[in-house]
Amino acid sequence: AKLVFADSAKDNPNMDIHSLRGLITSKTKVIVPVHYAGIACDMDALMDLANEFGIYVVEDAAQAVDSWYTSKDGSKKPLGSIGHMAAFSFHETKNIMSGEGGMLVINDPKFAARAEIIREKGTNRSAFFRGEIDKYGWVDMGSSFLPSDILAAFLFAQLENLNDIQNKRKEIWNFYHAGMTELASAGKVTLPFIPDWASNNAHMYYIVCKSPTHRQGVIEALKKQGIMAVFHYLSLHKSEYYKDKHDGRELVNSDHYSDCLVRLPMYYELTTAQQELILKTIYTYFLSV
Ligand SMILES: *Cc1c(COP(=O)(O)O)cnc(C)c1O
Repeated sequence: AKLVFADSAKDNPNMDIHSLRGLITSKTKVIVPVHYAGIACDMDALMDLANEFGIYVVEDAAQAVDSWYTSKDGSKKPLGSIGHMAAFSFHETKNIMSGEGGMLVINDPKFAARAEIIREKGTNRSAFFRGEIDKYGWVDMGSSFLPSDILAAFLFAQLENLNDIQNKRKEIWNFYHAGMTELASAGKVTLPFIPDWASNNAHMYYIVCKSPTHRQGVIEALKKQGIMAVFHYLSLHKSEYYKDKHDGRELVNSDHYSDCLVRLPMYYELTTAQQELILKTIYTYFLSV
């Protein structure tokens, strides 16, 4: 498949839905919206466009567990339930995790049977175990995508405690957000923007600096205090692997987030005292520039 990248929106790292129409050709098969930081893309607009052109939508809901989209008609849908399929991640950096692992959600039943086979190494073993056939064999391509029982048990315990985990993360998120308001009002940084249609699952707290220099300064100041803060994705259209395949369009918003965004530590055990130190360190840095 050939990948065509859409730019981020100006006010949020999610894809700029308005830029999509101009990128669609007769060869376009799938649109893959990323719900960045667990914040919903505008799924009404996206699904309308996809339906107009008969294109499938696969949601990258890797960061979007327990996050919601409110439709124009007022209905609330969990992210990952809107496109034809969606992928969630249980990587160690996500809200609930099993170290490595993930979940494919299939919303269009016509894809379910084949997905089951691909997951089972290309065999119809699942149908065999349900007693639907009397022997199983290779019927398609596939690989070994099944998680181990131990990983599943580890993950399940977190699912049982999802509300507790989410409440704690939201507390941490809100504490950062309140703490950052003054710095944002002073024009030093931009804070996450959450559109009306989106919920906040507190997957991530990030700030966007004015320049890569400021971002590097923040990261170094935190590092001196023994605090690890990281910037996030580098734009894929500029990656070693893809830069020569990209069609050359400038994706300025995407580059801006790639250059200036920094994530602050966000995990269940983070304490208020630690968050206070993080905020103080960032404020002290900005007093010096
Ligand atoms: C984590 C993440 C992935 C990858 O998930 P894996 O479980 O490592 O495959 C993909 N997309 C986004 C947006 C992510 O945050």
